[in-house]
Amino acid sequence: MKLIEHFVNGKIIPGSSDKKGKVFNPATGEQESEVRLASKSDLDNAVEVAKKAFETWSLKPPLQRARIIFKFKELIEKNSDELTKLIVSEHGKVYEDARGSLTRGLEVVEFACGIPHLLKGEFSENVGTNVDSWSIRQPLGVVAGITPFNFPAMVPMWMFPIAIACGNTFILKPSEKDPSCAIRLAELLTEAGLPEGVFNVINGDKEAVDAILENKDIKAVSFVGSTPIAKYIYENSAKNEKRVQALGGAKNHLVVMPDCDLDGAVNGLMGAAYGSAGERCMAQSVAVAVGDIGDELVSRLSKKAEALKVGPGMDKASEMGPLVTKEHLEKVTSYVDLGVEEGAKLVVDGRGLKLQGYENGFYIGGCLFDHVNKDMRIYKEEIFGPVLSVVRVKTFEEAAKLINDHEYGNGVSIYTRDGDAGRTFASKIQVGMVGINVPIPVPMAFHSFGGWKRSLFGDSGMHGMEGIKFYTKLKTVTSRWPSGVRSNAEFVMPTMK
Ligand code: NAD
Repeated sequence: MKLIEHFVNGKIIPGSSDKKGKVFNPATGEQESEVRLASKSDLDNAVEVAKKAFETWSLKPPLQRARIIFKFKELIEKNSDELTKLIVSEHGKVYEDARGSLTRGLEVVEFACGIPHLLKGEFSENVGTNVDSWSIRQPLGVVAGITPFNFPAMVPMWMFPIAIACGNTFILKPSEKDPSCAIRLAELLTEAGLPEGVFNVINGDKEAVDAILENKDIKAVSFVGSTPIAKYIYENSAKNEKRVQALGGAKNHLVVMPDCDLDGAVNGLMGAAYGSAGERCMAQSVAVAVGDIGDELVSRLSKKAEALKVGPGMDKASEMGPLVTKEHLEKVTSYVDLGVEEGAKLVVDGRGLKLQGYENGFYIGGCLFDHVNKDMRIYKEEIFGPVLSVVRVKTFEEAAKLINDHEYGNGVSIYTRDGDAGRTFASKIQVGMVGINVPIPVPMAFHSFGGWKRSLFGDSGMHGMEGIKFYTKLKTVTSRWPSGVRSNAEFVMPTMK
């Protein structure tokens, strides 16, 4: 059986631990490979390598770093079919969706190509007589990224292109459920001319993560995953004096106003709730029906949810693939059972789906609940599967309060033709990423991605200027060149004259 190892110092290396994880093809349910799980010493060795590489990489002019990133961009484009198939084979999502997620990662690489401009500092001439002052941003050192299973290419690419373009060296700890893409990206970076040791991949589980948190030479940690782990990463990174951004889980609402283009809202909801089998942190898992739109909304949604084409990700006819693992399928199924117990109306039941020829695959059909209320666990908790809940409210104000009271604040959307409602919503809603007649408001690479409340621990989002700031530290220089006049020592707080 294929064994997926670590990638350190420009090459694949065997780990020291015998611990291995299983990697499945969710479409067939078969185990495809094993992945080596790192020990603390594997991680520490990789950090030593990255620390050494930082000495020269950080001194390379940004323009030279940008040229390597640009070459990497070309190699991703050239190898996009292979990378997409890797995502499909280990994650399960359908090919076009996987390809789209790769493109969203590629956009961050394109953004990072502008690093000479992005790192330009500020300069003030004559802040005092013959005194100049300037601010620059310098890299931190070795930084680490810990990423989730649901975007094995895109989420790592939210982090490392910017981190290395800024002059840092990087340790990526991808999800042990679908680790192959990270290794392939490392190989492509090497092919692009990235010096050895600048980008390293350490596969592993909690042991590798804890080793990252404890290693004093790792200066910053970027994390994306579930909220309990995000909180753990945030607290322990801070305890160990690291800079940290930890993005967590979500429960996203799409508000359907009575005046909206209902076809647009229904189509938007179908893609946003069931795309990638609901395994997206920006999935819209709650439709909030305002006023009297509920019956018509549920009627249209149910017809489409029943007609959803579920199948293997490589089948062009599939609109939705399987879930990532058997355990996750069981978890999502148990949430549907729970919703029935809690008294929500299960309008479309996707449980127990068996596909001919793929009987062992991790499939579930689209599920639709109506009459869900705010006290139910299926409303409060993140299910991370193709389960859409409809909550009915009387007014716009009630919809906004529902959303603002929720513990998560990642993404949200409103469908309306009323400009005042749209504007008020964007201004008042307590959520980090807002869509107006847009179903999944994922910011482009040159803006920044990040939720509010328990969807993000830390101060900065990913990519865009937030990314540049996160991966650099500020230095401000104040300078005077002697011009023959020597001043005496001064013992009061300096003010510029
Ligand atoms: P997860 O939290 O289980 O795992 C994420 C990472 O943490 C993995 O690399 C994993 O190996 C590691 N990990 C898992 N358990 C750990 C533990 N006990 N101690 C230390 N490390 C541990 O998340 P997942 O299931 O891989 O991904 C799905 C979750 O990620 C969802 O909650 C989803 O909303 C979230 N997510 C959030 C965003 C965002 O931008 N906010 C984006 C994508 C995914």
